Amino acid sequence: MAKWVYTFGDGTAEGGAGDRSLLGGKGANLAEMCNLGLPVPPGFTITTEACNWYYANGQTFPDSFEADVTAALDHIAALTGRRFGDPEKLLLVSVRSGARASMPGMMDTVLNLGLNDATVEALAADSGDARFAYDSYRRFIQMYSNVVMDLDHEAFEEILEEEKARLGHDLDTALSAAEWQHVIGLYKAKVEEELGKPFPQDPHDQLWGAIGAVFSSWMNPRAITYRRLHNIPASWGTAVNVQAMVFGNMGETSATGVAFTRNPSTGEKVLYGEFLVNAQGEDVVAGIRTPQNITEQARIAAGSDKPSLQKLMPDAFASFMAISERLENHYRDMQDLEFTIERGKLWMLQTRSGKRTAKAALKIAVDMAAEGLISKEEAVARIDPASLDQLLHPTIDPKAERNVISVGLPASPGAATGEIVFSSDEAEEMRAIGKKVILVRVETSPEDIHGMHAAEGILTARGGMTSHAAVVARGMGKPCVSGAGSLRIDYKAGTMSALGTTFRKGDIVTIDGSTGQVLKGSVAMLQPELSGDFASIMEWADAIRRMTVRTNAETPADARMARSFGAEGIGLCRTEHMFFEGERVVAMREMILSDTEKERRAALDLLLPMQRSDFLELFEIMAGLPVTIRLLDPPLHEFLPKTEEEIEEVATAMDVSVDRLRQRTETLHEFNPMLGHRGCRLAVTYPEIAEMQARAIFEAAVEAGKRTGSPVVPEIMVPLVGLKEEFDFVKARIDAVARNVMDETGVEVEYLTGTMIELPRAALRADVIAESAEFFSFGTNDLTQTTFGISRDDAASFLEVYRQKGVMEQDPFVSIDVEGVGELVRIGAEKGRGARAGIKLGICGEHGGDPASIHFCEEVGLDYISCSPFRVPIARLAAAQAAVKSARKSS
Ligand code: PEP
Ligand code: MG
Repeated sequence: MAKWVYTFGDGTAEGGAGDRSLLGGKGANLAEMCNLGLPVPPGFTITTEACNWYYANGQTFPDSFEADVTAALDHIAALTGRRFGDPEKLLLVSVRSGARASMPGMMDTVLNLGLNDATVEALAADSGDARFAYDSYRRFIQMYSNVVMDLDHEAFEEILEEEKARLGHDLDTALSAAEWQHVIGLYKAKVEEELGKPFPQDPHDQLWGAIGAVFSSWMNPRAITYRRLHNIPASWGTAVNVQAMVFGNMGETSATGVAFTRNPSTGEKVLYGEFLVNAQGEDVVAGIRTPQNITEQARIAAGSDKPSLQKLMPDAFASFMAISERLENHYRDMQDLEFTIERGKLWMLQTRSGKRTAKAALKIAVDMAAEGLISKEEAVARIDPASLDQLLHPTIDPKAERNVISVGLPASPGAATGEIVFSSDEAEEMRAIGKKVILVRVETSPEDIHGMHAAEGILTARGGMTSHAAVVARGMGKPCVSGAGSLRIDYKAGTMSALGTTFRKGDIVTIDGSTGQVLKGSVAMLQPELSGDFASIMEWADAIRRMTVRTNAETPADARMARSFGAEGIGLCRTEHMFFEGERVVAMREMILSDTEKERRAALDLLLPMQRSDFLELFEIMAGLPVTIRLLDPPLHEFLPKTEEEIEEVATAMDVSVDRLRQRTETLHEFNPMLGHRGCRLAVTYPEIAEMQARAIFEAAVEAGKRTGSPVVPEIMVPLVGLKEEFDFVKARIDAVARNVMDETGVEVEYLTGTMIELPRAALRADVIAESAEFFSFGTNDLTQTTFGISRDDAASFLEVYRQKGVMEQDPFVSIDVEGVGELVRIGAEKGRGARAGIKLGICGEHGGDPASIHFCEEVGLDYISCSPFRVPIARLAAAQAAVKSARKSS
């Protein structure tokens, strides 16, 4: 028969720390603290299996359940000499939820359960403190009505505030027993008025009501949303903890508090916490009274004149400090503790691993490794890679007030403040006169590159996580919020409106690219800081990981930054991004809009020296490290001139009429540019483009080899290949140019020619393609787009609804869809290896910087991952964690 209830108390427990899935985090740790002999009020935990049974059986309880709970109440009675519902020997309990993973705010706690009109008198007599008894009773009515009977907390707060005002009291603690009695009367009347029935008086009814409420809370919308956001399966269920009450509100020798064993914001090894005298847990959180410091050291540092716990209750303080240290050593992690002191005696109510900032996480991990508490491998495993973002960009001070006007996608991390401008030219002009600006566009296009460069951050109303704005901003390391759909942008009027407020050019906003929030005005920021601890963890991670980490970079600035973040080469140089700016975009347009090969060659001649010098610089920066250069792959619409001025500019440069150019532009118009004339299709139709690029690469390689003294081995990558024939066609051109350059210069250059696998057909035919291709790089941006048939640029408008409606858990452009897109990657990798043993395999889509996707890459056995410069440290750490995980799996 299933065991639904586990008891604990007085130095023993039926469960322990290992029973987290059955007893929930709180229950397992309460049991563990008992096993350690720590002072924990006795109680019992109802298992998560009981919760699952409850849902599987039409929200009913199992047969033996009531008897089990009664037996467990007897267990508490045996240990305390008190009996639930017995006014002679009154036992009150607390009821708390506790899932396997901590889910703060899912369900509040019910304290003082068992009180009613009769037992409150017993409590008064028993404690010799009537004021305390009535205070406890009114708290219970308030909490129970709110948590179990769903009445608004505010309604009771209002009653209390009115009474305090009427009586002239500032603090709750000033109310006398009689005054609380009066408040209780008002509370009970409120309950009856709202629910049409009196407040439940039978303690057993109260208990079963609370147990049912905890179980039901598992399926409330708040909990469902929380689980969705944190990937917690509904099948885990929640446990319920029922525990004998101890009272922090039993007068001046009683108190309640919370503490972290180390500082959760800096990681410093000092106890950090606060407490309130004569109070219950919720008072600390409610912020009505200012809590006091626990240690003298903290009190002095805070300049507080209220006595510390150390001073006020030295004995309880000494036991608490000893227990804190013991728990931290036992769990080998920073603990978040809750305690109550009842008439001088300390009771522990909770311990769990404490939440911390990224900075604190690094310091704690490094310190604990130095203290010998954990290994370096464990230290590496303890850091959440995504949290490193907090350290790599200026971020909004968590203490700052946020006036949110809209929310979009967190497209590129970091925060930026500036005056809003609506065009890239304006951005440049303002920048030139020393102003900081946020570029606000409906969406961005290559014409906006100069504006994006000039701006502190980019905000768009449309576009997803792999839209132009998002990809380019990430590459630049600039904060970006994309797809903020509630913004109304009116270029003509020069306004942006949100939530009924209209913002004009020059008005200040702040964007938070880490959360997607758009805020009014400027907000206090914290600057990035690469501390020593950060470096240590990175070094330890590097020693563990198997995959190499490269970067996606095309500008020298990005390449340098990526190297400083530890990139081991370039995995993707998007050459089209090298033509977004100034003169180059005009030459690029000339090339695209040329009618004849002759015209095109003339335009290409202009582009060649620019490309060569770009590559030379990249080769020099990456001296000795691999550099993968991808041949041109622009969806053409990104480069076509749009405004009349742009058309005129290109017509003049090409010396053709505006009309002819307009006509040519119209001919090139595509309905589906993302699936149109791009990638290797461009090289097949206009081989001279690929030839120019190959020439630039080989000439630069020869020159860089001479300058650096070490030969450069370029990796040339052909994009958007579906057919082996496409690849062969382009490779033949590359090989011919290579031969020519080598003959001209008399220098032999070793090089590799490979392809991106970014179309389902390429993955399915990878064995055939690998006969010619010397490496593969999985382009999972396009592979996701083409596998799902969802446009990368238009996905944001409906994917969020998919997520909200539970149709799709994750945006597949953010975290790889392992089952579908991942399957194609797996097939591609296996087939590639089958045809060419040891073929070099990498990934360069946005997934290369996403920790969950990196775990998948490790599983498939890719050789390297490549991501935008700012994600390099995240990728290094995630790759190490993935290596540890897969080593564990195979051992
Ligand atoms: C890809 O498709 O995954 C890729 C890296 O190429 P791009 O994003 O430039 O299309
Ligand atoms: Mg692609």
